Amino acid sequence: MRLRNVPGAREDIAKSSMTVNEPEALKGKWSEVFGNDHPVRIEIGMGKGNFIIQLAHENPTVNYIGIEKYSSVLVRAIEKCADEELSNLKFIRMEAEYLCDVFAPQEIDRIYLNFSDPWPKDRHAKRRLTSRQFFERYDVILKRDGIVEFKTDNDQLFQFSLEQIPEAGWRLKEYTWDLHHDKAMVKGNVMTEYEMKFSAMGNPIHKLIAER
Ligand code: SAH
Repeated sequence: MRLRNVPGAREDIAKSSMTVNEPEALKGKWSEVFGNDHPVRIEIGMGKGNFIIQLAHENPTVNYIGIEKYSSVLVRAIEKCADEELSNLKFIRMEAEYLCDVFAPQEIDRIYLNFSDPWPKDRHAKRRLTSRQFFERYDVILKRDGIVEFKTDNDQLFQFSLEQIPEAGWRLKEYTWDLHHDKAMVKGNVMTEYEMKFSAMGNPIHKLIAER
């Protein structure tokens, strides 16, 4: 993600009713935030938010939380929601490493990872959002029958993820190296910003679904 300093981004985020400023205080209480018992699904590293905003529109009986570490990017997602009331969508500015401080065990129904940072150096492998270390965190916050859905165009990161999932004690439910030409898996696919950009460049999009 190209980063620019967006003046006032932090202040805009703090003021927005879309964002939750002290998410640790809500651990175990997310159903109270939304005012219902609908399932809660999160996207980690949502960028400018296209994907999760569209999902929130399409599925009013599911609650969504978009997580992004950079204010300069998150502020763009907030701007996109300026003219619409989406009571089933919230944003958090945070680093995903701290997920277990913000969500109680089994509080989450599904996790989406889209075009996550590849961290190509071996010594940074544990920072990848599909590393064993991250699957240990997902194991805590995700319901027993919950799933993790991951899309990328990065071959090395996808291959790494296919190998990490069984090592982490999870199972690969489904996967494809060419999502847009996989009739079954592409059904209902919602494109992310990166997915539009990279598929327009001719890159095949890879997707996997992990379960326990
Ligand atoms: N999901 C979007 C953006 C992909 S770029 C899309 O598909 O279009 C990856 C995004 O994840 C960036 O915005 C980056 O800031 C964010 N990100 C990467 N690692 C993160 C982490 N550990 N915690 C929170 N956000 C993270």
